[in-house]
Amino acid sequence: MTIENRIQHLLSQMTLREKIGQMVQVHSSSDANKELVRQGLVGSLFNEFEAAKVAEFQRVSTQESRLGIPLLIARDVIHGYHTIFPIPLGQAASWNTGLVEKAARTAAREVSATGVRWTFSPMVDIARDPRWGRIAEGAGEDPVLAGAMGAAMVRGYQGDDLSRPDSIAACAKHFVGYGATEGGRDYNTADIPERTLRDVYLKPFKACVDAGVCTLMSGFNEIDGVPASGNAFTLRQILREEWKFDGFVVSDWTSIQEMIVHGFCADSREAAREGVLGGVSMEMESTCYLDHLESLVSSGEIPLSCIDDAVRSILRIKFRLGLFENPLPPLPPAPFEARPEDLDLARQLARESCVLLKNEDSVLPLRKAAGSLAVIGALADSPLDQIGCWAFDRHLPDIRTPLAAIRGAVGESTKIDYVRAFTDEAAPRPETDEAALQAAAAAEAVVLFLGEGERLSGESHCRAFLDLPEHHLDLVKRIHALGKPVVVVLITGRPLTIPWIAENIPALLLAWHPGTMGGPAIADLLFGDHSPSGKLPVTFPRTVGQIPLYYNHKNTGRPPIEVERKMPMGTPLDPVGFCSCYLDAETTPQFPFGFGLSYSTVSYGPTLVKAEGGSFRVSAEVVNTGSRPITEVVQLYVRDLVGSVTRPVKELKAFQRIPLAGGEAREVSFLLGPDDLAFHHRDGSYGPEAGEFHAWVAPHSQGGTPAAFVLS
Ligand code: BGC
Repeated sequence: MTIENRIQHLLSQMTLREKIGQMVQVHSSSDANKELVRQGLVGSLFNEFEAAKVAEFQRVSTQESRLGIPLLIARDVIHGYHTIFPIPLGQAASWNTGLVEKAARTAAREVSATGVRWTFSPMVDIARDPRWGRIAEGAGEDPVLAGAMGAAMVRGYQGDDLSRPDSIAACAKHFVGYGATEGGRDYNTADIPERTLRDVYLKPFKACVDAGVCTLMSGFNEIDGVPASGNAFTLRQILREEWKFDGFVVSDWTSIQEMIVHGFCADSREAAREGVLGGVSMEMESTCYLDHLESLVSSGEIPLSCIDDAVRSILRIKFRLGLFENPLPPLPPAPFEARPEDLDLARQLARESCVLLKNEDSVLPLRKAAGSLAVIGALADSPLDQIGCWAFDRHLPDIRTPLAAIRGAVGESTKIDYVRAFTDEAAPRPETDEAALQAAAAAEAVVLFLGEGERLSGESHCRAFLDLPEHHLDLVKRIHALGKPVVVVLITGRPLTIPWIAENIPALLLAWHPGTMGGPAIADLLFGDHSPSGKLPVTFPRTVGQIPLYYNHKNTGRPPIEVERKMPMGTPLDPVGFCSCYLDAETTPQFPFGFGLSYSTVSYGPTLVKAEGGSFRVSAEVVNTGSRPITEVVQLYVRDLVGSVTRPVKELKAFQRIPLAGGEAREVSFLLGPDDLAFHHRDGSYGPEAGEFHAWVAPHSQGGTPAAFVLS
């Protein structure tokens, strides 16, 4: 029997109440919820952390409920389960979809052993505001990069065969526009015109749907006056009708009920109605569906066909996962033991996620036989901070900190003097500062670990200030004044504003929250066993006042006039004509999207464009002009000069990771098709428009030499 026939057969035996039960998701394993499961009134259990309770709930559902429909067990597995990979923003900085896919596969294998067959990942919300704490959970500001990362994760979680016991369903979230939250404040309203919604925010979701994602999660935000969790335009018209999505949508945590607080629904009965009519098949945590759907169907406010469609979409995923055959893993979970190949993978991905932002005077790599090194900063030896947000089941014994890894890397010949300065205490600690200064004065080189701890990013962890604490910066300045070679390693969940460090410290390595093997990965780079290859998936602003600052913005009629403005931050400057700029800050970023250095130097030849069929072959010669082997992330940007609506000044279209031996030159080429040039026009239609374009094969969003081409 086909899956569709099996669904139909099962549906025909279900009471209305049992159908509604499939649309209910609970998180607590309370006795009351167990009774609901027994009555067939729960479709999914999520974030139950004890495998024994998961198994017990699944047993009750399959053996004691009337129809024996298995529960879909879910969990937030965001960047690894036991083996933790870099936060998703860090993974995106690797631009390595193959590795990201493998990491998701490892996560699926580890978590499925506990009975979980559904993760609430990937998050593909475009984030143009680093104040938003959840920027850590996504792939940054670009729709093409976010789509590529999201699709890679979907492939990794779901595998080639969803019915394998070690495959799990993915969930692209939060549909849609959550990342555009005003002021970078979590759960806030988002105001997105339909064209931007379609050309920017929806794009990575489409990539996930094309990759076969089983589920989506609706967001907390509203879009143009309609909450995302009751939004028939995005959930029905776009997702189901235009994209033909046949999986299901789960609400975010109580986001159905929150439509009351939004002022969109008068009570929980209306919230249930708007949720279902809007297109959300399963309600997470709140109980509007369980409490009201029966009466809404009886009164005719919701057609039964609407309930049937929702239940069909949920059962479809349960059948595809093979849950009716294998509701639980073949073996009870054994104590976890990391596989060496997964630790290697975590190390490689952490290494490739690091971005070398500055390296003047070749301070890096450091010599292993330096004699003495001062390592300063609590973040050098803080296992949980290096893991980052949304990692509850990490396997602590495997976590290797940078301090341990640096000690391991240098061996006997070099003395490591560690001082636990730059802690998150609010007040300065003069004694520790003195110890740090002494250690730095006595060392041949100094490595400072700065940034933000794990609890400063993630959900509901937004910040209005992105500077380092003033007393941290004071100590950095005093250490810098000693005249030693200084390296800053930045451990963070988001871009921080670090203008003084960016201008004065010679070497700056961005490591994000790098995960279980973050320590060895950082040591691999500090000592030059590998060359950095990551590039920024998000713009680094100079100051919070510039936000939102992103590379793929629109032009204005009076673009900023770029002049060198070497004034201390906050000093009012004379206006440079009547152009779109600030009196007291520059308009350019500290580090642009796509930027990242290696231990070699790379030169890009001019971009060349040739017609090829109906497409364009865009290429450039990329040369490793140094002697070290490196991997260069080569990026293709395009600008559509004149459109029927205004177009962004630049858009990423594709990228490739190119290994280059010392001195090697490679012709790197991309095939740019008409679809890559498409956008939504004034009448709502979608496609490319004839006219002149510029293309850049470039090392980052501000680099490369453009070539013009014409689409006729
Ligand atoms: C978050 C989701 C998450 C869910 C379940 C919500 O608060 O917004 O991203 O998947 O909780 O834990």
